[in-house]
Amino acid sequence: MKCPVCGMDCVKSAKEIVALLPAIFLPCAECSIRILDKRAPLPTLEYGQPCSCGKRFIDEVFAHMYVVMVEEGDLQLTDPLIAVGSPLVHPGYAMDRPPFLPQKSLTLLTPAATKKTAERLMDEVPELRGVIKKENFIPGIASATIDSVPRVYELLAGCDVRADIFPLRNGPLVMYKQQTRIHIEFPRSGYPKIRAVEQRVGNPPVKFFVDACSGVGTLGLAAACLGVPHVVLNDAWYASAFWSAFNLEVNREYLRIDRVRIFEQEEDMQKHPVMNEQVKIAETEGEQSVEVYQGNFRQLHTVLSVNPPPVTVFDLFEKSDTPSVHRILDDWKKHVGGEVFIP
Ligand SMILES: [Zn+2]
Ligand SMILES: [Zn+2]
Repeated sequence: MKCPVCGMDCVKSAKEIVALLPAIFLPCAECSIRILDKRAPLPTLEYGQPCSCGKRFIDEVFAHMYVVMVEEGDLQLTDPLIAVGSPLVHPGYAMDRPPFLPQKSLTLLTPAATKKTAERLMDEVPELRGVIKKENFIPGIASATIDSVPRVYELLAGCDVRADIFPLRNGPLVMYKQQTRIHIEFPRSGYPKIRAVEQRVGNPPVKFFVDACSGVGTLGLAAACLGVPHVVLNDAWYASAFWSAFNLEVNREYLRIDRVRIFEQEEDMQKHPVMNEQVKIAETEGEQSVEVYQGNFRQLHTVLSVNPPPVTVFDLFEKSDTPSVHRILDDWKKHVGGEVFIP
């Protein structure tokens, strides 16, 4: 598959990604391990090379990036190793031990590196896929209001597309995202949101499921992969709606569908970053119907047929028990009905 952002081959189908697990981050018999104190500076400005198997322990990769960033003047010798930034591993999933990284398996979020350093890191550190400037805001839509155009992070070098894996009872879901545009959510062990969807979908599955603020589509596509015959995904932010449609295509092997029709490409959607009224971005043809919309969830009821009423998930950023959350759920019940839950 061609990457919709960089046009290169950094995107694989769900089947290809899943085939790499669980061995992808495990060492070979020759791999060496050096555990470093992340809160302290690197003891000496040295790092080990990748093993002949192509992998290198994550701390050693951080040592390499630290040395480059000190040489470029982005870090001081007194800075701790953790000042290099935060790792986003590709494909990401809840791991019980630190990974041995193969080539192109790491996206670095860094507050410290300049663009020049990032380009040097991409040239010299084979494990890197991309380097993103970390800033003090959440990229994408971070509240239930849609009045302002969301801010995004800057991609300093490489590509910012990566995937997270979510285990379902009938196989792992692969969810791609463009990490400069989508808020960062580290996979939590036990995957409580996925478990909540499995429980609400039930077995046999409910007839109709709505993911009202879908992000890149994880919960709605989980419902589709669990066999729900009709699923609607919706998000006001173009990057979320686009990646929901893309992930529908990536995970199509789980679905009883003949075809995914995608109506708008990423570059067209960038021209309408936030939508109030629904625009259909994708739909399937075949036994199962999955639809993806870009729009405000407050208007979503205008494009839904509500007989039978759906089970609806609201994965809101603002989850605490506030009057505004109650208002959102009450409004939804009034227009749409059915069961509503916050995962
Ligand atoms: Zn790419
Ligand atoms: Zn090895």
